[in-house]
Amino acid sequence: MALSKSANGRGAGTVPVPEMDPRFTCFELKLAPSKIHRWGVYAQETIPAGRKVVEYTGEKISRRETKRRADSSRFIYLFTLDPYWTIDGSVGGSGAQYINHSCEPNLVARIVRGHILYMSLRKIKAGEELTVDYHFEKNVQKVVCRCGSAKCRGTINVLK
Ligand SMILES: [Zn+2]
Repeated sequence: MALSKSANGRGAGTVPVPEMDPRFTCFELKLAPSKIHRWGVYAQETIPAGRKVVEYTGEKISRRETKRRADSSRFIYLFTLDPYWTIDGSVGGSGAQYINHSCEPNLVARIVRGHILYMSLRKIKAGEELTVDYHFEKNVQKVVCRCGSAKCRGTINVLK
């Protein structure tokens, strides 16, 4: 399970300030500009460890359609659900598609019965930016990481 290599073109473009869809959030979250990349998602209240924080939603698309969109769109929010299906967060996304990558993330993605759930790995304080490790594959185009973590591996791709 990993985000598609194409998800590096993520961002808001010229559209108005995006908002989180409260139907899919379990805590108060806010979208705001990020030091890591374009938009980021921030906790507005304390989130305990081990809790469901937000569901990554979007249109469920086939492998073939995934390739087509990856090749043709400027900003792409593709989350690989399994070897065949991908969730495109740019269509009906909850806002979780704006959560940035970090090599030392505070969230982890879990796939539960076809749903992508972002769970807290530790206690997250109000005001902290939410992050998840995208785990781009090592054998696709390298994407430089600017997460700023002391444990940064330098690329969003996994090293092995
Ligand atoms: Zn990093």
